[in-house]
Amino acid sequence: MPPPTAGSAPPRHPLAVLGGDVTVRVADGRLLPYANLDVAATAPCAVVAADAVTRMLPTYASVHRGAGALSQRCTLAYERARASVARFVGCRPGDQVVFTRNSTDALNLLAHAVPAGTTVLTFVGEHHANLLPWRRAVRLPLPRTPDEAVAAVDEALRRHGPALVAVTATSNVTGEVWPVAGIAQVAHRYGARVVVDAAQLAAHGPVRMAALGADYVVLSGHKLYAPFGAGVLAGRADWLDAAEPYLRGGGASAHVAVDGTVRWTGGPARHEAGTPNLAGAVALAAVCDTLTTTGWAEVTRHERWLLDRLDAGLAGVHRLALFGAGHPRTGIISFTVPGLESAEVARRLADEFGIGVRDGLFCAHPLTRHLLAAAAPAAAAPATAVRASIGAGTTAEHVDRLVAAVAQIAGR
Ligand code: PMP
Repeated sequence: MPPPTAGSAPPRHPLAVLGGDVTVRVADGRLLPYANLDVAATAPCAVVAADAVTRMLPTYASVHRGAGALSQRCTLAYERARASVARFVGCRPGDQVVFTRNSTDALNLLAHAVPAGTTVLTFVGEHHANLLPWRRAVRLPLPRTPDEAVAAVDEALRRHGPALVAVTATSNVTGEVWPVAGIAQVAHRYGARVVVDAAQLAAHGPVRMAALGADYVVLSGHKLYAPFGAGVLAGRADWLDAAEPYLRGGGASAHVAVDGTVRWTGGPARHEAGTPNLAGAVALAAVCDTLTTTGWAEVTRHERWLLDRLDAGLAGVHRLALFGAGHPRTGIISFTVPGLESAEVARRLADEFGIGVRDGLFCAHPLTRHLLAAAAPAAAAPATAVRASIGAGTTAEHVDRLVAAVAQIAGR
């Protein structure tokens, strides 16, 4: 099948990543370069992130807890990392950046801080991280179009009092871009707030709070080429300052009396009790700074080139059911091979072709089950889907190998 895009190499991505030279042995004994097509789950480590952590390690010491020179230096590095993240997401004056473990942790923190009596509106197609933490939740049905999503929020807000709308920027199942700005415009008309789950957007396009209309954003370092276990909740300070600390302990407490009475600190430290994750923050800041400097044009060109090639390749494979193709989206495509369980497809891609993909329901069970049911009559539909995802480090050869492998598997 002819490649749909000119040339044999995509435009350059501004982030170099580690792991491009990793090889794996496949079933017939050959050693193949590993084709990591599961970057939506966890992205490879950016060289700038690894370098920043390596540079910091010889002076590694406690953050916010010591008078020594190294402790001072590490405290500065940690707070500079917070400022880098704030620049990356376009925080407004007075907004807070709280470091968390990941997006799940950040959404649970916000759920903990939502004032009593606030209704949380989500769509049933959200990732479980944005579906399960909310206590007083109204789950809107899957919209068929972006306009329908905006109208559903409008309609629901008419019936509810104070509200928070919790919506993803891009789907982790299909990569589809959600009409977040339109939803936020409607939400703000009702005085509601909006939290944007940018876990899947952050590595693929700008996460700018003003442009998204977000009151809060969450993201995960490990999906943004910055492993080491840091995530972020950024946004308005008032709910966070008014909430009980998310974690209780040192760092969050300004004064503790003998009888146990506590005066808690304000600011991000209120929700960051315990020794913070300096390596995670430093790694994340290095990637944020790089992307803030380079902008997104190269990322978009790189991804578009590869995604067009992947879409065209998979569209040419007989009988495949594709989810998300044809819609504006980031670098994800999910599919099923009729008559074959997706776990079997993923296993063969790994064992025979050295390709890493994800199979399952992608922690978005309602959405993935809906897509599966819509693609095939219940009896014929595989129970789960396969997801391929691309990013920095993905090459044309990875994409071509996947297309050829899927064609071979589907053909038998
Ligand atoms: N939201 C979306 C859209 C995601 O794809 C994910 C991760 N798959 C999460 C939230 C949760 O991210 P984490 O596992 O890093 O907490």
